[in-house]
Amino acid sequence: MKKVAIPPMVADIIMNGISNLNGIIFDSVNECPCCGGQLKGHDTKNKKFATLIENNQQKNIFVNVKRYRCKDCKKLVYSDSPFYDDIRIGSPIVDFCILNLKMHPANHISKILRNMNIAVNPSTIRKFNTLKTGEIKSIEFHGIAFPLSLLNISENIRNDESLGINAMIVQMVQGRPHN
Ligand SMILES: [Zn+2]
Repeated sequence: MKKVAIPPMVADIIMNGISNLNGIIFDSVNECPCCGGQLKGHDTKNKKFATLIENNQQKNIFVNVKRYRCKDCKKLVYSDSPFYDDIRIGSPIVDFCILNLKMHPANHISKILRNMNIAVNPSTIRKFNTLKTGEIKSIEFHGIAFPLSLLNISENIRNDESLGINAMIVQMVQGRPHN
């Protein structure tokens, strides 16, 4: 079995970034993507973003995604949020799995994630193989690809005080781009 070596600072940043999302509300959307019509608030959906492992216990991180109803075509429209369609796990974690599936089997990826205190079953990871995404920007450490979406999770989603730290990490490893 391959050894898993993740720089502790990277693991901390990712873990803190995910923890900080608990309870956050995503409510920004411009217009109906189908007809460009005006939107009216409908409801807020609680969605599981990730399962973390804290002191050997699983802890679910939930976020809230506001939904709108188009006044013209009546379609239900979700706010912009970090999820792929029909996938019940945050897109930065999915990005991590997709990138690493090119290099590692799903059970090893599950082990790497567990090493960062993130629980994802190998069978779930395997399903991401067929998912179509755009280009996923990433950085590689010790044979593991880290998408910027996951490394910069706080910066991308929350704009909080950890921005400085994340920017620093990315700068530190910029000499070793993945692609
Ligand atoms: Zn519409």
